[in-house]
Amino acid sequence: MKNVLLVHTGGTLGMAGRRPDALKPGSFFRTVRERVPELTKLARVEFHLFANVDSCELQPELWAELATLLYERLPRYDGAVVTHGTDTLAETACALSFMLKNLPRPVVLTGAQRPLKEIRSDARLNLIDAVTAALHGPKEVTVCFDSHLFRGNRVRKVSVSEYDAFDSPNHPTLGVLGVDTRFEKGLSRRGRFTLEAEVDPRVFLLRVFPGLDPAIPLAILPKVRGVVVEAYGAGNFPVSKALGRSLEPFFHEARRRGVPVVVVSQAQRNGVDLSLYESGNVARASGAISGGDMTVSAAVVKLMHGLARHRGDALRRYLERSVAGERG
Ligand code: ASP
Repeated sequence: MKNVLLVHTGGTLGMAGRRPDALKPGSFFRTVRERVPELTKLARVEFHLFANVDSCELQPELWAELATLLYERLPRYDGAVVTHGTDTLAETACALSFMLKNLPRPVVLTGAQRPLKEIRSDARLNLIDAVTAALHGPKEVTVCFDSHLFRGNRVRKVSVSEYDAFDSPNHPTLGVLGVDTRFEKGLSRRGRFTLEAEVDPRVFLLRVFPGLDPAIPLAILPKVRGVVVEAYGAGNFPVSKALGRSLEPFFHEARRRGVPVVVVSQAQRNGVDLSLYESGNVARASGAISGGDMTVSAAVVKLMHGLARHRGDALRRYLERSVAGERG
């Protein structure tokens, strides 16, 4: 029989009682055995309690720990499932996809909108599907939710309470788990399985909005090592001097300080094209990096990961190319 490692980090899936009380360590795995006995028919599932927290508490240092755990233990299993709260599941999926290079086995993240202990919980099916994907799905970091398998670094949480909580608007699904299960091939390995767990969290996410006072992001620049700008549409932001809200000085100052700026879009589908409008040209002229069709989460996590290993042009090249299928 095949072996699957199930690493629990917390989230709604394992919660019980009056929310947000978490189940106590130990009882989560007992609940899984009681509520989803079918899992043992699919594989020999070995449990590992990594944490039992709401995913808003999962910080970059914990991504690195989780990646290290998977790096060390994965070769002994046929695949791994990580149970995770849905709020920052996208960020953890991105981090694991950048940290674990050339995965030899599938790593599947899942969670639930309703605790496993409750009636009509989506946790049961999500767990069965995630274990199925860990056994038969592509060898990369994926997210399994509501009968669909997505590339991990392409997902966005799109719903707070419906069961189809995730989508990957800029990338086709990697699998469907309906009456029949079907999986795509996924990424191909380009070398040895390695761990690159370092991250530098000193980044800032700036969402552009009408009325934004440029003095605020300018004041932030001395405190950070990189910025992701979530711009309008194709990568737009105000550059008119008329009302004193041009962000051009921000881009110039970032360049002067050597702070890389990655531009991504507030739109969910398609991506940034900095050659299309005047502000895009301003961004390009000041050395800003196009985030293409990356999600905001992917851009933030990739910047943290890139800053820990690269500088200058090497960092730019790292951010501009697809490292783990996160951009087209
Ligand atoms: N707040 C929860 C978490 O992210 C939400 C969930 O799991 O769905 O841990």
